Amino acid sequence: MKIKKAELEKVAVFPYQYPNTGRPEIALAGRSNVGKSSLINTLVNIKSLARTSSSPGKTRTINFFNINDSFYLVDLPGYGYAKVSKEEKKKWGKMIEDYLNGREELKLIALLVDSRHAPTEDDKLMLNFIRHSGKKLVVIATKIDKLSRSELIKNINMLKRELQLTDQDYFIPFSSLKKIGKEELWKVFEENL
Ligand code: GDP
Repeated sequence: MKIKKAELEKVAVFPYQYPNTGRPEIALAGRSNVGKSSLINTLVNIKSLARTSSSPGKTRTINFFNINDSFYLVDLPGYGYAKVSKEEKKKWGKMIEDYLNGREELKLIALLVDSRHAPTEDDKLMLNFIRHSGKKLVVIATKIDKLSRSELIKNINMLKRELQLTDQDYFIPFSSLKKIGKEELWKVFEENL
């Protein structure tokens, strides 16, 4: 995909704040630090479009990035912080549910998981939300540059099994550092827009 424009257009907590252009959307979800901001920046070739975990004051919002005035990449709030109150968890769940359920513009959900580890309970909870929404899924295994070839093969099988993925789901190994998986991921996005 040739990127002519990539801009943060809307920052939302509530549905009335979502864009109303009717353009298709692809959402990205994953626990904090999984490499989601890096992946977005890699996809659009902009160093700091999405703010990385190290940015101070990173807030829990749904961020809509306008790509080429033709669709949105939707950055969902990261989860899995150690120090999060029950109240905040509830708010996060409500925000995610409000967005995922019945958002017609949403064509595909990307769930990012760390290629080095088994999925966390929070990853499985997120996957439940996704299954419940009935939307198409692409699982992205991040930071694969940190694994050897044999570890990678082993972990891909483990992740597919643990997440109970089917033939209908896409699965893409990815590295922002080495730019691996970028073209393949764009292809999946384009197929679903
Ligand atoms: P986010 O919280 O999901 O947005 O995660 P970030 O994109 O901020 O990344 C979290 C940390 O992982 C940062 O220190 C990144 O430099 C690092 N990181 C992200 N992607 C990769 C990758 O593909 N390979 C490696 N080795 N590190 C990565």
